Formats: sequence, structure tokens, C-alpha cells
Amino acid sequence: MFRTKTCGELRLANVGESVTLSGWVQRTRKMGGMTFADLRDRYGITQLVFDESTDAALCEQANRLGREWVIQVVGEVSERQSKNQNLPTGDIEIIVRQLVVLNESAVPPFTIEEQSDGGDDLRMKYRYLDLRRPCVRKNLELRHKFAFEVRRYLDQQGFMEIETPVLVNSTPEGARDFVVPSRMNPGQFYALPQSPQTLKQLLMVAGMDRYFQIVKCFRDEDLRADRQPEFTQIDCEMSFVEQEDILQMFEGMSRHLFKTILNIDIPTLPRMTWADAMKYYGSDKPDTRFDMKFVELMDVLKGTGEFSVFNEAEYIGGICCEGQAVYTRKQLDQLTDFVRRPQIGAKGLVYARVGEDGTLKSSVDKFYSPEVLENLKNAMQAKPGDLILIISGPDTLKARKQLCELRLEMGSRMGLRPKDKFSCLWVIDFPMYEWSDEEQRLMAMHHPFTSPKPEDIPLLDTDPASVRANAYDMVINGVEVGGGSIRIHDAKLQQKIFEILGFTPEQAQQKFGFLMNAFKYGAPPHGGLAYGLDRFVSLFAQLDSIRDCIAFPKNNSGRDVMLDAPGFIDQSQLDELCLQIDLPKE
Ligand code: ASP
Repeated sequence: MFRTKTCGELRLANVGESVTLSGWVQRTRKMGGMTFADLRDRYGITQLVFDESTDAALCEQANRLGREWVIQVVGEVSERQSKNQNLPTGDIEIIVRQLVVLNESAVPPFTIEEQSDGGDDLRMKYRYLDLRRPCVRKNLELRHKFAFEVRRYLDQQGFMEIETPVLVNSTPEGARDFVVPSRMNPGQFYALPQSPQTLKQLLMVAGMDRYFQIVKCFRDEDLRADRQPEFTQIDCEMSFVEQEDILQMFEGMSRHLFKTILNIDIPTLPRMTWADAMKYYGSDKPDTRFDMKFVELMDVLKGTGEFSVFNEAEYIGGICCEGQAVYTRKQLDQLTDFVRRPQIGAKGLVYARVGEDGTLKSSVDKFYSPEVLENLKNAMQAKPGDLILIISGPDTLKARKQLCELRLEMGSRMGLRPKDKFSCLWVIDFPMYEWSDEEQRLMAMHHPFTSPKPEDIPLLDTDPASVRANAYDMVINGVEVGGGSIRIHDAKLQQKIFEILGFTPEQAQQKFGFLMNAFKYGAPPHGGLAYGLDRFVSLFAQLDSIRDCIAFPKNNSGRDVMLDAPGFIDQSQLDELCLQIDLPKE
């Protein structure tokens, strides 16, 4: 038997027991005639003691142990003289009487302890070593528990987990596809699914009623901290439901997850329309851990003074930062630089401090009368000691997005975005379409299978851009953790939506004929949503990047640096696939 106990479970109650442990040597220390070793496995760390005076040969053997060697020891559990409060096993140690080296280890490229000396790249290359560190491993443990509780909840609610294929067809309207050449069908390609959207709808036509799947999805997009080319969705679909049924069901799932995993009782999720989210937060995924809502100032500041920037603006909005009038000129200049960065793109920033006597001192004082400044203070509901920050611009959407970045920055600076505080909400009533400057046409905001709000259907003919969808997102701390919609289940309406998106009937038939055809055979009303598992877990684990809760993530260039993937393939493989590639010259 390799072990009778793990390295994480022995306590004072076990003192006197003879045990066998196996694990990795984290480090050894020689102190006088004693040698100590920390033995690590997935469950914890246990201190081993080798006493030269009782067994010199054994102690000699222990002194030769290197970091990360795999060993097995037999010994007796004993109470420690000096206890380690930071370790669950810190009250005991093992007086070793037998040591077997199961495997030696090369010197690891970085220290495998809570605090590692390895940089990001090195740790990614040796991810299997990084995963030995408890702080990294615990994210995977949380992920496992999370997925397990998802399955438990959905199973209790009658959902069935059904696998859908990974080799499917390329579909327009999404992100870029990853494609796979088909050897047996030369010149033809599969695509990896961006989501099982149409398949889960077909499962509803098939009468499965309640489907879910924890499933890998693939999108060939440019990468950011919260994106990976392959990621995991909790994909769900239900039949005979309205939006309200779905919101209730999945609010229930979130409540279950918060309770069972974090022991947090979350309040009923507030619901905010997309229009309000944009108006008050400049974002469809507002961080509602703190208030600092936008106040529109067009009435107050446009045309009421000589400041031409405001007089020409299409949007003027401000936020009130409580108690921040202490901001120095230098700090305000920094903030101005912040909003002027190309990623944000504002032209400038106007500020006003409210003095202790209630008077307003602003960067545009000279353009406005005291009455206007008083109106500004009142509109912002600013108190003595507050700082007002104002952004304006010729494009309302852009100016709001800039103000959103500023609000988030101020929220962070003011300590209003702690990772251990959770604020969840539903954003509802998304528009059906958004205008794409690139494509010069309307694009589906969610996806083309989303149903319009019934009362807005007449607008499809007259003003499609104003049509609202039965679509919803769940947002936590400014992160979109999930989203979905009620679907179209009527072939004619689906056809019409494809038309508005610019598909000819032939193109729609070619790309989505299988779905519209299925709708002819009794499609039930249905709807669903999908959560981003990686994002949801990284929120729970309070991580900065979703990578940290993925066992083997890809880097910013979409590479797996450990496997060195993607890689070139042999000419013979290319030939077999009928692919001709001009390899880049070195
Ligand atoms: N398939 C959608 C997505 O990946 C989610 C849904 O509508 O259920 O975003």
C-alpha cells in the first residue's frame, strides 16, 4: 500500500498512530542532528522528522532528498514541540522510521510553494509543476465543486445533460470559426462549435424539454484577459417557457451556487433594462457593487455658458465621487490622461470640487455664472467635499462608454470594488440589432435565433433598429456571466429575421435550412441561456484572469506554451488532407 493517510489529514487525535504517507518533498531543513522535510500532496503538507541519534543511516538518506522527489515514508504521528498555526496539520509531525524514494526529480525551474519565484511564462511552460502549488490547485478544486453543484441543481430541476457534436458546420453571424479539414471529404471543412445554439434548439424540437451541457466552445477571436479561444459554457435550454420562467430558474441556480460554494445568501436579482444600464452606467454589464450613477447634464450645461466644448456636445454626463474633493491638481491631470488614452478616447475631462463651504470650484468656472454652477451642484446632488467629473462628446454612446471607464476607475481608486463583495443583476430588454460600422448593416445583438418582443414585432417592418428582444444577461460585478433569449420557433418569423440581417432566402436556406425545416415539424416555444463557466468560477475564486481557473490555458497569442501548440504538421498529413500551404520562411 502506498499510503494509509494523506498529507492533509493528520491531527492531534492521531498521535501515536503508525502511518504510511506518499508525496513530494517540498523542502528539507537540517538542524543539528535532526532533519525536517515538508511532504506535500493534493491534500496538504505534513512535516517529517528524521532523528540522527535514533537512525543515522535513515537520516543520511533524508539529507540526500532533493526538492520534488517523490517518496513514501512509514512512521509514527507525534505532537510537535513548536506548532505551526498556519498549517491544518501544524500540531503534529511524523517520526519517520522507513523511507522509500519512489522517484527522483530534476531541480524544478521555480520554487513550488505558495509564493513562487517563477515568472508567468515559465510557470505556464511547466504548468504541471505550477498546478502542484496549493494556491493554483485550489482554483481547480473550486471549479470542480462549481460544476458539480451546477449538475446537482439542474438534475434536481429535471434537466438532462446531452452531448452535442464537436465537429459541426461553420455558421455566419458569430465570431470567427476554428475549422477542421475533412480527409474523407477533400476540400471540405468542419467547424468547431462557437456554442451548441442550433443543436440545443433541435433538442427542443425533439421533445427533450430541459437540456443542459457543460461544454467546450471555440471562438477564433482576439484574446483578452477574460477570453480564451476554447472556453466552457454551461449551456441550457427549456421548452414551454417564457422569459420569466427562465429568469426564475437560473436565478435559482445562482442562488444555489452562491450558497453551497461560498455560503452567501444573495438577494433577489434586480432587473435593469438595457436602456437604463446604458443611461446610468454606460455599459450593458454595469458593476453595481457601487452607485455613482451617471447624471445627464445637457440641460444644465449646454448653451448656458460660453464653453464651446459643451455647447457643441451631443452628450454631457457626470459622476459624483463622494469625499474626493481632496484630489490634487496632479491627480486630476492623471485622470485626464487616463480618459485620453487611445483605448478610452475622450478629448478631456472637466472637474468641479465642492468646498467645505458648499461652493463649487471647477475647471470651467470662467464660462459659467454662479447660478449655473449651483444648478450643476444640485443636479449632481453633490455635498461639501465631493468631486464632480464630467465627460462630453459628439457621440452619446461613445461618451457614455468613456464615462463608464472613468466611473470604474474611480470605483477602484475609492476601494468600492472589493472582490469579495458580489452584486448580481439581470439586464433585460436588449435591442434585437446593433449597427455595424464595419459591415454597414444591422447585426443581431445576441444571435439571429432570438425572438423579438411580441409587442415590437410590427416595428420589424418600419424601424427594425428600435425592436427590443426577449434577451437577457446575468451580470455580476460588471462581468457578463451568462446570457440568453427566448427563441423564435416559427419558421416564417425566422425567415424574416434572416432577411433583415441581409440573407437572401437562398443563403438562409443554405445556412440554416436544417433549423427552419425542423421548425415545420412542431417546434415548441422555447428559450434558454448559457453561462461562461470560466468567468463565473473566476469571480467566485476572486481571480484577475479566467486563465487561473483553467488547468491548461492558452496565452495571449492563443498558444499552449507547454504543448507548443499550434504546430506545423507533416507534408504527408497535408497531402492526405489535400491542403497546400506556403510555410512562412524563417
Ligand atoms: N448560445 C448563446 C451564446 O453562446 C447563449 C444562448 O442564447 O443560450 O451566447
